[in-house]
Amino acid sequence: MKLLRVILLTMTSFAAASAATTVQHSTFGHMPDGKAVEIYTLKSSAVELQVMTYGSRVVSLDTKDRNGKMGNIVLGYASFDQYLKDPKTYFGSVPGRYANRIANGKFTLEGKGYQITTNDGPNALHGGKVGFADLNWSGKEIPSGVEFTLVSPDGDQGFPGTLTAHVRYTLNDNKVVIQYSATTDKPTVINLTNHAYFNLSGDGSGTILNEQMKIDADKFTPVNSTLIPTGQLAPVAGTPFDFTSPHVIGERINASNDQLKLGHGYDHNWVLRGKMGELHPAAQVYDPASGRVLSVETTEPGMQFYSGNFLDGTFKSRTGAKYEFRNGFCLETQHFPDSPNHPDFPSTELKPGQTYHSETTWTFTART
Ligand code: BGC
Repeated sequence: MKLLRVILLTMTSFAAASAATTVQHSTFGHMPDGKAVEIYTLKSSAVELQVMTYGSRVVSLDTKDRNGKMGNIVLGYASFDQYLKDPKTYFGSVPGRYANRIANGKFTLEGKGYQITTNDGPNALHGGKVGFADLNWSGKEIPSGVEFTLVSPDGDQGFPGTLTAHVRYTLNDNKVVIQYSATTDKPTVINLTNHAYFNLSGDGSGTILNEQMKIDADKFTPVNSTLIPTGQLAPVAGTPFDFTSPHVIGERINASNDQLKLGHGYDHNWVLRGKMGELHPAAQVYDPASGRVLSVETTEPGMQFYSGNFLDGTFKSRTGAKYEFRNGFCLETQHFPDSPNHPDFPSTELKPGQTYHSETTWTFTART
């Protein structure tokens, strides 16, 4: 009996020790004004995650394949300066103040019209010309992770209200937890997400078209020619947008379908089944080559599945390979694009006295 207790106690303390996450940080580079960009390394026995203050970005994410071998599965650069030279991809960032598009950069709030800087044809994308992805947040170590903070002044890119935003990355064994919160001093709109590009076969290993995608959504929001939602919630059933059961990403991506043509592939918002505000399943991706499985849960009502259609070989990976067409995919859990202009979409308004909360988790396992 006594021996059994000793064994049990030893097992419990071993489990606690192996689940512990270590956090370290160092300087990754410098902003043009000389301010240091800090990189934080979160390490558990299953995952190693690096995130930096610039854009509150995920820089690298190592997980185990089916043989227990660790490998980085997100796109990114070896040196900080390369991030400054890439205004296009938003690798690993937290876009804001409004992730995804606002039509013509315009919306009305409490009877007043606002104009956001436009940077994507006629539209504002990911918060306008200088969004949260381009700014150096401040970082602070917290238990099992890091908290990044950014204060966006009243009028920033045209948005009303001083907005104070926090993003917390924590690591619990094989689960990365991302928690967003924000407050404002004037009514405003907010939509935060993470823009990591995954390649579960490994960063720099080529196409993602062979990975199997499952999305917990029966509807999606079709778009017009500038990728602004038409306002319709269209059923996915019987279309290449139906991922309610797993499909290889490449299986139907070139099908003759107007929405796929407009997106140059998948670049759409899915309407998730679960209850907004509570964690619910969003997607599960399985890579037959490595055995890796990524499971995404979120409190958000939507998710943009973007199949990396605008990667065109301009930028080079830390492995030396060029990032070509569809070499990474994003799963951007979010409120729907252009919500400020769609009163029937879940609201993205934030008022003084309210706190915006959002949470997304990434859990990593492997199939043999
Ligand atoms: C958008 C894409 C865009 C990409 C930015 C995604 O969230 O939906 O259209 O090209 O971000 O690189």
